[in-house]
Amino acid sequence: MADVAMGEAETFAFQAEINQLLSLIINTFYSNKEIFLRELISNSSDALDKIRFESLTDKSKLDAQPELFIRLVPDKANKTLSIIDSGIGMTKADLVNNLGTIARSGTKEFMEALQAGADVSMIGQFGVGFYSAYLVAEKVIVTTKHNDDEQYVWESQAGGSFTVTRDTTGEQLGRGTKITLFLKEDQLEYLEERRIKDLVKKHSEFISYPIYLWTEKTTEKEISDDEDEDEPKKEEEGEVEDVDEEKEKDKKKKKKIKEVSHEWQLINKQKPIWLRKPEEITKEEYASFYKSLTNDWEDHLAVKHFSVEGQLEFKAILFVPKRAPFDLFDTRKKPNNIKLYVRRVFIMDNCEELIPEYLSFVKGVVDSDDLPLNISREMLQQNKILKVIRKNLVKKCIEMFNEIAENKDDYNKFYEAFSKNIKLGVHEDSQNRSKLADLLRYHSTKSGEEMTSLKDYVTRMKEGQKDIYYITGESKKAVENSPFLEKLKKRGYEVLYMVDAIDEYAVGQLKEYEGKKLVCATKEGLKLDDETEEEKKKREEKKQSFENLCKVIKDILGDKVEKVVVSDRIVDSPCCLVTGEYGWSANMERIMKAQALRDSSMGAYMSSKKTMEINPDNGIMEELRKRAEADKNDKSVKDLVMLLFETALLTSGFSLEDPNTFAARIHRMLKLGLSIDEEETEDADMPALEEDAAEESKMEEVD
Ligand code: ADP
Repeated sequence: MADVAMGEAETFAFQAEINQLLSLIINTFYSNKEIFLRELISNSSDALDKIRFESLTDKSKLDAQPELFIRLVPDKANKTLSIIDSGIGMTKADLVNNLGTIARSGTKEFMEALQAGADVSMIGQFGVGFYSAYLVAEKVIVTTKHNDDEQYVWESQAGGSFTVTRDTTGEQLGRGTKITLFLKEDQLEYLEERRIKDLVKKHSEFISYPIYLWTEKTTEKEISDDEDEDEPKKEEEGEVEDVDEEKEKDKKKKKKIKEVSHEWQLINKQKPIWLRKPEEITKEEYASFYKSLTNDWEDHLAVKHFSVEGQLEFKAILFVPKRAPFDLFDTRKKPNNIKLYVRRVFIMDNCEELIPEYLSFVKGVVDSDDLPLNISREMLQQNKILKVIRKNLVKKCIEMFNEIAENKDDYNKFYEAFSKNIKLGVHEDSQNRSKLADLLRYHSTKSGEEMTSLKDYVTRMKEGQKDIYYITGESKKAVENSPFLEKLKKRGYEVLYMVDAIDEYAVGQLKEYEGKKLVCATKEGLKLDDETEEEKKKREEKKQSFENLCKVIKDILGDKVEKVVVSDRIVDSPCCLVTGEYGWSANMERIMKAQALRDSSMGAYMSSKKTMEINPDNGIMEELRKRAEADKNDKSVKDLVMLLFETALLTSGFSLEDPNTFAARIHRMLKLGLSIDEEETEDADMPALEEDAAEESKMEEVD
């Protein structure tokens, strides 16, 4: 920046949320502060990954510092601990943005989580791990050099602001970042070699770059007096008697001195865990690898470690977490969590081609023997090897989910966290659709508290039942007593409750399971063809006698419904509204209406074409039929039909376009019921009814 003199400090204010986060970190009483080291080493490892990846296509990127390492330097005299890496470094702009002025999406979430009792050690999951430095340090200095910029120094004691200064005089890094922590008086334990070594072993064991510790070694060295030039030679004087000449000579010549030397000690030596044999790896080792890979604070729920051999070879470890991350379906998030290695060299961790989006919650590593090392993102897109790897990963994921399903408790946990992903998979992945369908679970009219799989549903199907029935809606409560279920329930047919918005999409693609059609109880075409001849005949007769009423109702409702027919599916309710087999269901209409940015023109032809089904066995319908027969223009019939239609909208899962008119109609019915004279109590606020009170006398006949 031209307007800043060399070496002059520029001061920046921390963004408000970051500032809040810092005071929280500094003031929280929290004993497990050691996690700061894991966070900073993990940042270093990420920075090294980045420069290594860049160097695959352009070797010269490593010129300034060819070696890739992490170094830890405790300095007891100054009470500082430094973490140095030869990673990608930060430009001045990176420094300002990444370390203070731009809050990550996780900043607020992390604070909320903390307030809700979360543990500070979860910080890494929220993408604000750097600030954990302030758990142990009162001041932090970050010196950094990126290939594209000069060396800069960032410095802050929290307290609202930080400074950034161009660094021309300090020790030059070549490339990378040095983070120096000025430890608080009560945190000096982090200067002890033993403590640091243990911490690295505990939290950073699987970092794939060498971590060196600057160690101090004191050796006792024997030197002879002759060599020792600094010592004054005085012992030789004086009288020496009765002493063994030889021995005394020895003593004079050799003496011990303490010598302090320093050296870099490599403190992580593990070979990559995925290269080891699965049977030799303990559960704890997997857990600790999983944690180092993901920053998760809990163990994984399931793991699958395998290798594929043959014309194509790769090794992989896949994990399913116990919970969904806070940003599972956040589109700004990186597409997946599988790290790609080629012959032990890290390539990238968000390769979209590696695993489909619906499996983005699966974490792990893949190490391929066949991909070229200098592979670029563009090449990956059409790479055949990658396609085969992807196919295998999906297969193994599904196997792993099935293994989880062997334990009910585990599967409940899994399903609660990731059922949406499975359903998304059913919707998107036509190749694996039927296998994914096995993983679906639903509450049903017969499942009680538990959920049922489609497989179990099929085993319970009644003799003669051809189809699998389901109903969609907003919640279990909303569909449980739906009029659509009446006949199905009466016949003992089980109905699945699909009450997740995404169920509509998934079931729309699934269509059938084990050769059995999935039939929506709220759509047209629900045929229960196990009637006896006699029943059929009776129904036909009924249908005929209600034909006239159907016509009358259609005339009254006009465009509000597509048609009016006699129903096969309801037992108790007077009527219901069904939608076309291929259009939106009521539930889908609700979901689409809720999508604010949707193009509204689409709604016009997709939105449900409603058919009113009336129940010929219902008393209200029978009465209406009689009245309509007597007088086609009976005013009370009109009013009642409107009321029935609006009530059916509600019980069938639609919303009312004009709740006020509906309410007015109900109020009028109440007054009739209470024998209150309409004219005397005319309420000015009440919206006028479509047909007015002139013909009110006829309404009174209804009761
Ligand atoms: P996260 O690492 O989860 O993104 P942090 O708060 O730990 O969040 O770090 C913020 C950002 O600062 C990182 O994304 C990275 O861009 C940058 N950063 C932190 N440490 C280093 C480092 N050692 N080398 C290069 N960049 C770093």
